[in-house]
Amino acid sequence: MSPKEMNVLPFISKDGYSPHTFEYIPLSLLSESEGDGCKPSLQDWMKIFYNSIEYFASMAKEDGQVENPSAKAKIFATLYRDKLDTLMQKRYEDAKPHLNCLTLCKMREESLIEAGFTDVFASIKQRENIESIKLLPSICKELDQIETKRKLWDTLIRNMCAANIFDLGSAHTARMYHENEFCFEACRKMLLPRPWAIDNVETFCDRMMSHTYNQAMIFVDNSGADVMLGMLPFARELLNQNVAKSVVVAANSYPSINDITYSELIHLLPQICEADQKLSEYVKSGTLRIIPSGSGLPVIDLSSDSISDEVRQEAENTDFLVLEGMGRSIETNLNAEFLVDSLRIGMVKHKEVASCLNCNLMDCVVKFCTI
Ligand code: MG
Repeated sequence: MSPKEMNVLPFISKDGYSPHTFEYIPLSLLSESEGDGCKPSLQDWMKIFYNSIEYFASMAKEDGQVENPSAKAKIFATLYRDKLDTLMQKRYEDAKPHLNCLTLCKMREESLIEAGFTDVFASIKQRENIESIKLLPSICKELDQIETKRKLWDTLIRNMCAANIFDLGSAHTARMYHENEFCFEACRKMLLPRPWAIDNVETFCDRMMSHTYNQAMIFVDNSGADVMLGMLPFARELLNQNVAKSVVVAANSYPSINDITYSELIHLLPQICEADQKLSEYVKSGTLRIIPSGSGLPVIDLSSDSISDEVRQEAENTDFLVLEGMGRSIETNLNAEFLVDSLRIGMVKHKEVASCLNCNLMDCVVKFCTI
């Protein structure tokens, strides 16, 4: 066991933590071919990853940062398909521990790196970040004009859910993005009516109006609207309303799909601060800090030894944990036990996840737990 593994984050339950929400291999082998009626089978789950090959290869082919992107994209597709095939061929033996969302995402990132890519979605992320920062002042102004606290927290929740639609890791929302159906205003109108798949919105609002935390730690998801219009305004209000004395935003250390990275966020901080006076003050005073999470995946295992030293240090003072996005909040951490108050928020963008949660595609999860 590495020293980092022994150093478990203080807010996760040592025995109760598992970063796997959904069993990809059903308990009954008999049910494997058809699932157990309404739940997805192993084949259904694997299809998500097999089907992602073509889209990732098409994006990789356009990568202007590498030489011969077309040839490299083909190498990626072959590498990843072979890895998935190998797992499927021996799925009941040594492959079983790898048949989960975390390792299948990891293998896809590794295949891209092995093929010679570093950040296939870089240009899309950059464009979306710049466009979203332009909208940040109007979102902050709108929040500042809300008259009641309950309405404010309710709006923030809705904004976070709507902004989470910018996800190129899901075939459904990637198609929406490329077909230009995408704008933050439209996404807010598209939210399904409540109650949502998991809907602790009222409990969350009550708590935000009556409690003060020492520190909130927010694991953010996607670039563009997601972080700029959903998560940063949320971090701003936690400070503005004195709900948290300080807020730490943890972003991926390494690129993965369209997730915002630590270095991208740091690079954009001057523009973010220019867009909003309050965010600027919080950054200057150090009450709002950006740190690298250590992760390079669209999901997160908080018990992994890849978790950064910065997260480990900041975790000591954290008494409110926020996990955002389908990968981090639903597919890996939905059932995790935490030893501090926690908010898991995201949108359901895979039909397999929807069927496990007995909800519709594009439904929202707002799981708020107090200890
Ligand atoms: Mg993402």
